[in-house]
Amino acid sequence: MIQLFFQGVLNQLSDMLFIVEIEERTVLRYVFANQTGCNQLGLSLKQIEGKTIGEVFYDQPEREALISEQYKRVIEKRESAIYKDQFPGTDGETVYSETRLDPLFNEKGELAHIVAVVRDITKSVHQQEELLKKNDRLQEAELHWQSLIENNTDGVLFINKERELIRVNQVFRNMLGVSADMEMRELKETAIQMFDPKELEKIYSLRQLVLQGHLQEYESYFFQQDGRRVDLQVKEVPVIIKGEMQGLYTFVKDISEQKRTEKELRESEERYRSLFDYNQDAVWSLDLAGNFISVNPAFEKIMGRSIDIAGKPNLRDFEKEFVTPFEDVLQHYEEVKQGKSVEYNVSLYSLNKEVIHLSFTNVPIYVEGKIIGIYGIGKDVTEEVTAKKALRESEKKYRLIAENMNDLIVVFNLEGIVTYASPSYQPVLGVKPEEYVGQPAVSLVHEEDRLEIVSRFAEAVEHQRPYTVEFRKKGRSGEWLYFETVCMPLWNEQSVLEGFVGISRNINERKYYEEKLEHMAFYDPLTDVPNRRLFENLANQAIKEAARSGQRAGIMYLDLDKFKTINDTLGHDVGDELLRQFTDRLKGSLRKMDVLARMGGDEFTILLPNTSGAAAEEAAGRILQTIEQPYQVKGHLFTTTSSIGIAFYPQHGQTVEELIQQADEAMYRAKKGGRNSFVLAD
Ligand code: GH3
Ligand code: MG
Repeated sequence: MIQLFFQGVLNQLSDMLFIVEIEERTVLRYVFANQTGCNQLGLSLKQIEGKTIGEVFYDQPEREALISEQYKRVIEKRESAIYKDQFPGTDGETVYSETRLDPLFNEKGELAHIVAVVRDITKSVHQQEELLKKNDRLQEAELHWQSLIENNTDGVLFINKERELIRVNQVFRNMLGVSADMEMRELKETAIQMFDPKELEKIYSLRQLVLQGHLQEYESYFFQQDGRRVDLQVKEVPVIIKGEMQGLYTFVKDISEQKRTEKELRESEERYRSLFDYNQDAVWSLDLAGNFISVNPAFEKIMGRSIDIAGKPNLRDFEKEFVTPFEDVLQHYEEVKQGKSVEYNVSLYSLNKEVIHLSFTNVPIYVEGKIIGIYGIGKDVTEEVTAKKALRESEKKYRLIAENMNDLIVVFNLEGIVTYASPSYQPVLGVKPEEYVGQPAVSLVHEEDRLEIVSRFAEAVEHQRPYTVEFRKKGRSGEWLYFETVCMPLWNEQSVLEGFVGISRNINERKYYEEKLEHMAFYDPLTDVPNRRLFENLANQAIKEAARSGQRAGIMYLDLDKFKTINDTLGHDVGDELLRQFTDRLKGSLRKMDVLARMGGDEFTILLPNTSGAAAEEAAGRILQTIEQPYQVKGHLFTTTSSIGIAFYPQHGQTVEELIQQADEAMYRAKKGGRNSFVLAD
């Protein structure tokens, strides 16, 4: 009953429980297993009871050996033993177990049974494994940190929230100049000794802020044992994990060298202070890293922007403000670092986005033979550059005009030799400008016009003043072109006359109209023979000539007979055409030197220079014959005749007027005498 009760209780246990009977100290035979134990072995209590360990674990020899060994130990030592084991569970997963073996002694004190309680510790094993893994990861992270700290080029310190110095790296030890194995407390004491009390006070008060969660950056310094000053740039970062302040990391950079450079730069500047301050050009200095160390007062005015030196601006911060490729600027700085002095032009955007042009000079700054920085000098050349640009543009514009216009531009020296000819010579005259250069300017001018322009040129040289001439030059297709040329004196920089620039404008059109007007003044518009005016001029000349040579000159006066009737019957147009055909016929029966002129209406005169009475009469007879041939005008066929009066110089008069009048009178008599005849003056 009691046994059954126990059995029931034991079956409820989650741990496995086995009782093993010991036979003759060596044979171990199962006498009991609770339900959990049976389940684990996959056997019923009946199957287990009476079996030895070897029989139960016949298929797991290794496990059997382990278990047997543990039991034997209990038997030998007559005391409890605990061992760990692992085996496949009912679901195939590895089950980790911890087994406690307790010896049971009988009344005789003999070891008769061993009770084994096997606890499933799989869960806790897994947990532990997890923990171990986590630990590994933590350790790894820790190693990362360590490596980061140890290999940092800055000094690194970790200080916990109680402000105890927990860790420092070798770089920091080197800065202090202490040994690698100096213990933390001593190291802290040593360090404190090196700082000025005032600096410490500053550091502590800033550290207070860090421990409240605010990152701090500041500069400080300390003195090494040998008295050398070490300047520091310090950054302190709070370490907060899951909202909990853990302490702080301090990163310390030795900036002694940089400070020294700055100091030296400033000192070297001091020497040239007034040059620096009062320079109208922008002057600045940079350290070798490109940090601005100083700028002079003119800098702002020239560069169109100010620079706050306290903010440690670097040249690279201004990259976007350069119009000039920034690599070029950097390239120049590199050259200066190598000891060169360079000059170059730079374009920048001013604050209001206008482009400004500067001439930069960069020179190295030497202190004790070492280059420690760079001086820059910037001169504003915006006006010159833009003026040059404007000049270039206007030059371009003028060239365009010169190349596209028909005006000819020529420059010639005081010898009249061409030194420049515009491209327009080619299209206008068919002359290559470069071939004209070196030739006398008059070489292309019409021979008849040369004398005039040479004398005008000489006059202009003498009086050093501009002049205008007209002349002809042969056009591209051989025709004569008229030009009006304005010549302006060219003086050199010493105001000495060097030559002239001539601008020739084609005035053909003007000339055409001028000539036409002139023609109209002297010629009859209907028949295109000379009018009265020209006739009188020419007759005058002929009389003078005759007077000089003692020859005779004749003047004929002609009037068509009954012309009115033709006009009236056939129309005015037919009358006009008749007048034209009439002149043509007349011209055909005259000598080359004779001059036919129309006085008006149907009246004509003929000048016969150097003639005789007989020759004149013969001519008159021929004329009458020619004229009386039938005319065909606009489909009308008809005849007409003419009456002629003839007067001779010198016997009928001394002047043209007298002679014309005499001839007219003779003509009148011819009319009276029946027309179609000639009559000599009395
Ligand atoms: P006569 O034999 O007496 O000379 O008789 P006529 O008809 O020729 O008379 P007269 O010489 O006096 O008249 C000339 C005429 O010529 C008058 C005018 O109508 C005409 N006449 C004048 N000028 C022009 C002109 O330019 N064209 C034409 N078709 N007729 C003109
Ligand atoms: Mg008439």
